[in-house]
Amino acid sequence: MTTQTILPTCRDCGVREGELHEPGCDTERCPFCGTQLICCPCWNEKLGLDKDAVLSDDQEDRFSEMLDAKGRVPYIRYPCLCRRCGAVNPKFFKVTYEEWAKYVQIDERESVLCLPCYAAIKNLIDLGVVRKRKSQRDGDEESAPPSKKSKE
Ligand SMILES: [Zn+2]
Ligand SMILES: [Zn+2]
Ligand SMILES: [Zn+2]
Repeated sequence: MTTQTILPTCRDCGVREGELHEPGCDTERCPFCGTQLICCPCWNEKLGLDKDAVLSDDQEDRFSEMLDAKGRVPYIRYPCLCRRCGAVNPKFFKVTYEEWAKYVQIDERESVLCLPCYAAIKNLIDLGVVRKRKSQRDGDEESAPPSKKSKE
């Protein structure tokens, strides 16, 4: 047994929590806008360039200095949690936007859901809709309670 604590490491550049990412790391956040640094718009904006302009090495260095002056964002692990059950870093899955929008209410569409929860939500909503429709229909057409009906 060792007393050393094992810290999570950046999945892209391998630095440990609290350390600055290696240059060009995929997961480093921009200290200005908070999005992925390697593809954020600040490079060109801060240098006063057209947004499609390709940066020269000098310009990259200048932006790099601005980053240092502002303070780069070190690696800290913020796990994704399923919004519904709290599962840590659930596997991503693919679903069409139409389907996502059909089952996930507007204010939760940016949330992370694990696949079992998403499947459960779909199921609950589908069943809920059918149940509601059925009870309305039964209520309209028959006055007898449905409990005595035999199932075939
Ligand atoms: Zn990194
Ligand atoms: Zn940025
Ligand atoms: Zn879940």
